[in-house]
Amino acid sequence: MKAAVLRGPYDLRVEEVPRPKVLPGHVVVKVKATAICGTDVGIYKGKVVPPRMPVIQGHESTGEVVEVGPGVTDLRVGDRVVLNSIIFCRRCPACYAGRVNLCPNGGLMGREVDGTFAEYVAVPDYNCIKIPDSISYEDGTSLIALATVFRSHDKIRINPGDTVAVIGQGAAGLLQTRLSVISGAEPVFAWSRSQWKLDIAERFGARVINAGQVDPVKAVKEATDGAGVDVAIESIGSSATLHQAMEVVRPGGTVLFFGIAPASLDDFNGYAMYYKELKIVGSRGMAPVDFHMGIKVVQSGKVDLHSLITHRFDLDHVKDALELVDKRPGDALRVVVRI
Ligand SMILES: [Zn+2]
Ligand SMILES: [Zn+2]
Repeated sequence: MKAAVLRGPYDLRVEEVPRPKVLPGHVVVKVKATAICGTDVGIYKGKVVPPRMPVIQGHESTGEVVEVGPGVTDLRVGDRVVLNSIIFCRRCPACYAGRVNLCPNGGLMGREVDGTFAEYVAVPDYNCIKIPDSISYEDGTSLIALATVFRSHDKIRINPGDTVAVIGQGAAGLLQTRLSVISGAEPVFAWSRSQWKLDIAERFGARVINAGQVDPVKAVKEATDGAGVDVAIESIGSSATLHQAMEVVRPGGTVLFFGIAPASLDDFNGYAMYYKELKIVGSRGMAPVDFHMGIKVVQSGKVDLHSLITHRFDLDHVKDALELVDKRPGDALRVVVRI
Protein backbone atom coordinates (compact mmCIF):
# COMPACT_ATOMS: atom_id res chain seq x y z
CA MET A 1 0.00 0.00 0.00
CA LYS A 2 0.98 3.65 -0.31
CA ALA A 3 1.93 5.57 2.86
CA ALA A 4 3.77 8.75 3.89
CA VAL A 5 6.71 7.58 5.99
CA LEU A 6 8.71 9.97 8.18
CA ARG A 7 12.42 9.10 8.36
CA GLY A 8 13.69 12.30 10.00
CA PRO A 9 12.83 16.00 10.27
CA TYR A 10 11.19 17.15 7.00
CA ASP A 11 12.06 13.78 5.45
CA LEU A 12 8.56 12.51 4.68
CA ARG A 13 8.33 10.20 1.68
CA VAL A 14 5.32 8.64 0.03
CA GLU A 15 6.36 5.05 -0.59
CA GLU A 16 5.13 1.47 -0.98
CA VAL A 17 4.97 -0.36 2.38
CA PRO A 18 3.39 -3.68 3.43
CA ARG A 19 -0.32 -3.50 4.22
CA PRO A 20 -0.85 -4.00 8.01
CA LYS A 21 -2.12 -7.39 9.15
CA VAL A 22 -5.16 -7.76 11.34
CA LEU A 23 -4.49 -8.92 14.94
CA PRO A 24 -6.90 -10.30 17.54
CA GLY A 25 -9.03 -7.46 18.92
CA HIS A 26 -8.05 -5.23 16.02
CA VAL A 27 -9.53 -4.15 12.71
CA VAL A 28 -8.00 -2.92 9.48
CA VAL A 29 -9.48 0.35 8.30
CA LYS A 30 -9.25 1.66 4.75
CA VAL A 31 -8.42 5.31 5.40
CA LYS A 32 -10.66 7.73 3.51
CA ALA A 33 -9.60 11.12 4.86
CA THR A 34 -7.04 12.49 7.30
CA ALA A 35 -6.96 16.08 8.50
CA ILE A 36 -3.74 17.78 9.49
CA CYS A 37 -3.27 19.43 12.85
CA GLY A 38 -0.42 21.31 14.51
CA THR A 39 0.80 18.12 16.18
CA ASP A 40 1.49 16.57 12.75
CA VAL A 41 3.48 19.65 11.79
CA GLY A 42 5.50 19.47 15.02
CA ILE A 43 6.36 15.81 14.33
CA TYR A 44 7.18 16.55 10.68
CA LYS A 45 9.55 19.38 11.61
CA GLY A 46 11.32 17.38 14.32
CA LYS A 47 10.02 19.51 17.21
CA VAL A 48 8.47 16.32 18.57
CA VAL A 49 10.57 13.24 17.92
CA PRO A 50 8.67 9.96 17.58
CA PRO A 51 10.11 7.21 19.81
CA ARG A 52 10.65 5.03 16.76
CA MET A 53 11.41 5.91 13.16
CA PRO A 54 10.53 5.41 10.43
CA VAL A 55 6.90 5.98 11.32
CA ILE A 56 3.83 6.54 9.15
CA GLN A 57 2.45 9.97 10.11
CA GLY A 58 -1.17 11.12 10.38
CA HIS A 59 -3.82 10.80 13.08
CA GLU A 60 -7.13 12.66 12.50
CA SER A 61 -8.96 10.20 10.32
CA THR A 62 -12.06 8.49 9.12
CA GLY A 63 -12.37 5.33 7.09
CA GLU A 64 -14.14 2.07 6.39
CA VAL A 65 -13.58 -1.19 8.24
CA VAL A 66 -12.30 -3.77 5.72
CA GLU A 67 -11.02 -6.59 7.96
CA VAL A 68 -12.11 -7.69 11.42
CA GLY A 69 -9.76 -9.62 13.74
CA PRO A 70 -10.67 -12.52 16.04
CA GLY A 71 -12.57 -11.45 19.14
CA VAL A 72 -14.02 -8.26 17.66
CA THR A 73 -17.76 -8.36 18.20
CA ASP A 74 -19.16 -4.88 17.62
CA LEU A 75 -17.63 -3.91 14.27
CA ARG A 76 -18.29 -5.34 10.83
CA VAL A 77 -16.72 -5.01 7.42
CA GLY A 78 -18.23 -1.92 5.79
CA ASP A 79 -18.71 0.09 8.99
CA ARG A 80 -17.89 3.76 8.58
CA VAL A 81 -15.74 4.97 11.49
CA VAL A 82 -13.83 7.89 12.93
CA LEU A 83 -10.60 6.86 14.64
CA ASN A 84 -9.78 7.90 18.17
CA SER A 85 -6.10 8.58 17.59
CA ILE A 86 -5.19 8.21 21.27
CA ILE A 87 -3.80 4.79 22.14
CA PHE A 88 -4.51 3.78 25.74
CA CYS A 89 -3.86 0.67 27.85
CA ARG A 90 -7.25 0.22 29.60
CA ARG A 91 -5.38 -1.18 32.62
CA CYS A 92 -4.10 1.79 34.63
CA PRO A 93 -5.69 4.13 37.19
CA ALA A 94 -6.21 6.86 34.56
CA CYS A 95 -7.92 4.42 32.17
CA TYR A 96 -10.04 2.90 34.97
CA ALA A 97 -11.20 6.44 35.77
CA GLY A 98 -12.18 7.00 32.12
CA ARG A 99 -9.41 9.55 31.67
CA VAL A 100 -7.84 7.58 28.87
CA ASN A 101 -6.42 10.77 27.34
CA LEU A 102 -4.03 10.84 30.32
CA CYS A 103 -2.96 7.17 30.12
CA PRO A 104 0.79 7.03 30.89
CA ASN A 105 1.17 3.87 28.81
CA GLY A 106 -0.55 5.35 25.78
CA GLY A 107 0.46 7.32 22.76
CA LEU A 108 -0.71 8.87 19.55
CA MET A 109 -1.19 7.40 16.11
CA GLY A 110 1.37 8.84 13.73
CA ARG A 111 3.89 9.22 16.56
CA GLU A 112 4.13 6.21 18.90
CA VAL A 113 2.45 3.88 16.39
CA ASP A 114 1.90 4.02 12.65
CA GLY A 115 -0.72 6.53 11.58
CA THR A 116 -3.10 7.34 8.78
CA PHE A 117 -1.26 9.07 5.95
CA ALA A 118 -1.71 5.61 4.48
CA GLU A 119 -4.21 3.59 2.53
CA TYR A 120 -4.78 1.18 5.43
CA VAL A 121 -4.22 1.24 9.18
CA ALA A 122 -4.64 -1.48 11.82
CA VAL A 123 -6.16 -0.26 15.09
CA PRO A 124 -7.67 -1.78 18.26
CA ASP A 125 -11.43 -2.12 17.91
CA TYR A 126 -12.02 0.32 20.78
CA ASN A 127 -10.33 3.09 18.79
CA CYS A 128 -13.12 2.98 16.18
CA ILE A 129 -16.30 4.98 16.70
CA LYS A 130 -19.03 4.38 14.13
CA ILE A 131 -20.30 7.42 12.24
CA PRO A 132 -23.66 7.71 10.51
CA ASP A 133 -24.02 8.02 6.72
CA SER A 134 -25.09 11.64 7.18
CA ILE A 135 -21.52 12.64 8.14
CA SER A 136 -19.10 12.51 5.20
CA TYR A 137 -15.63 11.04 5.60
CA GLU A 138 -14.07 14.47 5.06
CA ASP A 139 -16.32 16.30 7.52
CA GLY A 140 -15.93 13.39 9.96
CA THR A 141 -12.22 14.15 10.42
CA SER A 142 -13.28 17.27 12.34
CA LEU A 143 -15.06 15.07 14.89
CA ILE A 144 -11.60 14.67 16.44
CA ALA A 145 -11.22 18.42 16.95
CA LEU A 146 -14.80 18.57 18.21
CA ALA A 147 -14.08 15.75 20.68
CA THR A 148 -11.19 17.73 22.17
CA VAL A 149 -13.56 20.68 22.60
CA PHE A 150 -16.11 18.45 24.36
CA ARG A 151 -13.34 17.13 26.67
CA SER A 152 -12.49 20.69 27.71
CA HIS A 153 -16.13 21.69 28.25
CA ASP A 154 -16.57 18.75 30.60
CA LYS A 155 -14.20 20.65 32.89
CA ILE A 156 -15.38 24.24 32.52
CA ARG A 157 -19.15 23.64 32.58
CA ILE A 158 -20.64 26.57 30.69
CA ASN A 159 -24.07 27.45 32.04
CA PRO A 160 -26.91 29.18 30.17
CA GLY A 161 -26.43 32.94 30.45
CA ASP A 162 -22.68 32.77 31.09
CA THR A 163 -20.54 35.20 29.15
CA VAL A 164 -17.68 33.64 27.24
CA ALA A 165 -14.74 34.97 25.22
CA VAL A 166 -13.01 32.65 22.74
CA ILE A 167 -9.55 33.88 21.75
CA GLY A 168 -8.47 32.58 18.36
CA GLN A 169 -10.81 31.29 15.64
CA GLY A 170 -8.91 28.45 14.04
CA ALA A 171 -10.93 25.28 13.46
CA ALA A 172 -10.82 24.28 17.14
CA GLY A 173 -11.47 27.88 18.23
CA LEU A 174 -14.53 28.05 16.00
CA LEU A 175 -15.78 24.79 17.50
CA GLN A 176 -15.16 26.26 20.98
CA THR A 177 -17.24 29.24 19.90
CA ARG A 178 -20.06 27.10 18.55
CA LEU A 179 -20.19 24.74 21.54
CA SER A 180 -20.29 27.75 23.90
CA VAL A 181 -23.21 29.18 21.92
CA ILE A 182 -25.21 25.95 21.96
CA SER A 183 -24.43 25.50 25.66
CA GLY A 184 -26.46 28.66 26.20
CA ALA A 185 -23.72 31.22 26.80
CA GLU A 186 -24.83 34.77 25.95
CA PRO A 187 -23.00 36.54 24.52
CA VAL A 188 -20.04 34.58 23.19
CA PHE A 189 -17.33 36.99 22.09
CA ALA A 190 -15.14 35.55 19.34
CA TRP A 191 -11.94 37.32 18.52
CA SER A 192 -9.42 36.91 15.76
CA ARG A 193 -7.37 39.02 13.38
CA SER A 194 -8.85 37.23 10.34
CA GLN A 195 -12.10 38.74 9.17
CA TRP A 196 -13.04 35.66 7.11
CA LYS A 197 -12.78 33.48 10.21
CA LEU A 198 -14.88 36.01 12.12
CA ASP A 199 -17.53 35.76 9.40
CA ILE A 200 -17.82 32.04 10.18
CA ALA A 201 -17.84 32.76 13.94
CA GLU A 202 -20.70 35.19 13.37
CA ARG A 203 -22.65 32.52 11.48
CA PHE A 204 -21.95 30.25 14.47
CA GLY A 205 -23.76 32.76 16.70
CA ALA A 206 -20.89 34.76 18.19
CA ARG A 207 -20.44 38.47 18.71
CA VAL A 208 -17.23 39.07 16.80
CA ILE A 209 -14.27 41.34 17.49
CA ASN A 210 -11.51 42.00 14.97
CA ALA A 211 -8.40 42.03 17.15
CA GLY A 212 -6.44 43.61 14.31
CA GLN A 213 -8.62 46.72 14.50
CA VAL A 214 -9.54 47.18 18.16
CA ASP A 215 -8.13 46.20 21.54
CA PRO A 216 -10.20 43.05 22.16
CA VAL A 217 -9.83 43.10 25.96
CA LYS A 218 -11.06 46.69 26.08
CA ALA A 219 -13.93 45.92 23.69
CA VAL A 220 -15.16 42.98 25.77
CA LYS A 221 -14.82 44.95 29.03
CA GLU A 222 -16.90 47.75 27.52
CA ALA A 223 -19.53 45.34 26.26
CA THR A 224 -19.83 43.76 29.73
CA ASP A 225 -20.01 47.09 31.63
CA GLY A 226 -16.48 46.62 32.87
CA ALA A 227 -17.13 43.18 34.38
CA GLY A 228 -15.28 40.85 32.00
CA VAL A 229 -16.45 37.37 31.05
CA ASP A 230 -17.29 34.35 33.19
CA VAL A 231 -15.18 32.06 31.02
CA ALA A 232 -12.22 32.94 28.78
CA ILE A 233 -11.14 30.24 26.34
CA GLU A 234 -7.63 30.62 24.93
CA SER A 235 -7.37 28.67 21.70
CA ILE A 236 -4.02 29.76 20.25
CA GLY A 237 -1.39 28.80 22.81
CA SER A 238 0.78 31.91 23.00
CA SER A 239 1.96 33.86 26.04
CA ALA A 240 0.33 37.03 24.77
CA THR A 241 -3.13 35.55 24.29
CA LEU A 242 -2.98 33.61 27.56
CA HIS A 243 -2.24 36.93 29.21
CA GLN A 244 -5.25 38.48 27.44
CA ALA A 245 -7.45 35.61 28.65
CA MET A 246 -6.47 36.33 32.26
CA GLU A 247 -7.20 40.04 31.70
CA VAL A 248 -10.60 39.64 30.11
CA VAL A 249 -12.04 37.17 32.64
CA ARG A 250 -14.06 38.51 35.58
CA PRO A 251 -12.98 38.03 39.21
CA GLY A 252 -13.81 34.47 40.22
CA GLY A 253 -13.98 33.41 36.58
CA THR A 254 -12.45 30.50 34.68
CA VAL A 255 -9.66 30.55 32.10
CA LEU A 256 -9.33 27.53 29.84
CA PHE A 257 -5.85 26.93 28.43
CA PHE A 258 -7.06 25.06 25.35
CA GLY A 259 -4.37 26.02 22.85
CA ILE A 260 -1.18 24.08 23.48
CA ALA A 261 0.69 26.52 25.73
CA PRO A 262 4.46 26.97 25.62
CA ALA A 263 6.54 25.29 28.35
CA SER A 264 7.09 28.61 30.05
CA LEU A 265 4.96 31.73 29.78
CA ASP A 266 6.27 35.26 29.39
CA ASP A 267 4.38 37.88 31.27
CA PHE A 268 2.25 35.45 33.32
CA ASN A 269 0.10 37.64 35.53
CA GLY A 270 0.39 35.82 38.86
CA TYR A 271 -1.14 38.81 40.60
CA ALA A 272 -4.34 38.52 38.53
CA MET A 273 -4.48 34.85 39.48
CA TYR A 274 -4.42 35.83 43.18
CA TYR A 275 -6.44 39.02 43.03
CA LYS A 276 -9.24 37.65 40.84
CA GLU A 277 -9.17 34.16 42.41
CA LEU A 278 -8.94 32.72 38.91
CA LYS A 279 -9.52 29.12 38.09
CA ILE A 280 -7.12 28.04 35.31
CA VAL A 281 -8.01 24.79 33.59
CA GLY A 282 -6.00 22.62 31.21
CA SER A 283 -7.36 20.02 28.80
CA ARG A 284 -5.61 17.44 26.66
CA GLY A 285 -6.90 15.19 23.92
CA MET A 286 -10.22 13.41 24.25
CA ALA A 287 -11.95 10.30 25.53
CA PRO A 288 -14.32 7.99 23.60
CA VAL A 289 -17.39 9.59 25.19
CA ASP A 290 -16.46 12.93 23.59
CA PHE A 291 -16.83 11.42 20.11
CA HIS A 292 -20.32 10.20 20.93
CA MET A 293 -21.34 13.67 22.15
CA GLY A 294 -19.81 15.26 19.05
CA ILE A 295 -21.57 12.90 16.65
CA LYS A 296 -24.89 13.68 18.35
CA VAL A 297 -24.61 17.46 17.98
CA VAL A 298 -23.43 17.18 14.37
CA GLN A 299 -26.29 14.82 13.51
CA SER A 300 -28.79 17.18 15.10
CA GLY A 301 -27.56 19.95 12.79
CA LYS A 302 -26.34 22.12 15.67
CA VAL A 303 -22.69 21.99 14.61
CA ASP A 304 -21.60 22.49 11.02
CA LEU A 305 -18.29 20.76 10.32
CA HIS A 306 -18.42 21.25 6.57
CA SER A 307 -17.58 24.96 6.54
CA LEU A 308 -14.35 24.25 8.43
CA ILE A 309 -12.67 22.51 5.48
CA THR A 310 -10.66 25.02 3.46
CA HIS A 311 -8.16 22.84 1.57
CA ARG A 312 -8.00 19.34 0.11
CA PHE A 313 -4.91 17.41 -1.01
CA ASP A 314 -4.21 13.86 -2.12
CA LEU A 315 -1.69 11.57 -0.41
CA ASP A 316 1.04 12.29 -2.97
CA HIS A 317 0.90 15.96 -1.93
CA VAL A 318 0.80 15.47 1.84
CA LYS A 319 4.01 17.48 2.24
CA ASP A 320 2.36 20.47 0.56
CA ALA A 321 -0.52 20.10 3.00
CA LEU A 322 1.86 20.11 6.00
CA GLU A 323 3.74 23.11 4.62
CA LEU A 324 0.46 24.98 4.21
CA VAL A 325 -0.57 24.37 7.82
CA ASP A 326 2.92 25.34 8.98
CA LYS A 327 3.58 28.42 6.87
CA ARG A 328 0.15 29.90 6.23
CA PRO A 329 -2.00 29.08 9.26
CA GLY A 330 -3.98 32.30 8.75
CA ASP A 331 -5.18 31.04 5.36
CA ALA A 332 -6.43 27.63 6.45
CA LEU A 333 -8.87 25.99 8.83
CA ARG A 334 -9.14 22.23 8.24
CA VAL A 335 -6.73 20.86 5.65
CA VAL A 336 -7.82 17.39 4.59
CA VAL A 337 -5.79 14.73 2.82
CA ARG A 338 -8.08 12.51 0.74
CA ILE A 339 -6.82 8.97 0.54
ZN1 LIG B 1 -4.33 16.33 16.11
ZN1 LIG C 1 -3.96 3.37 30.70
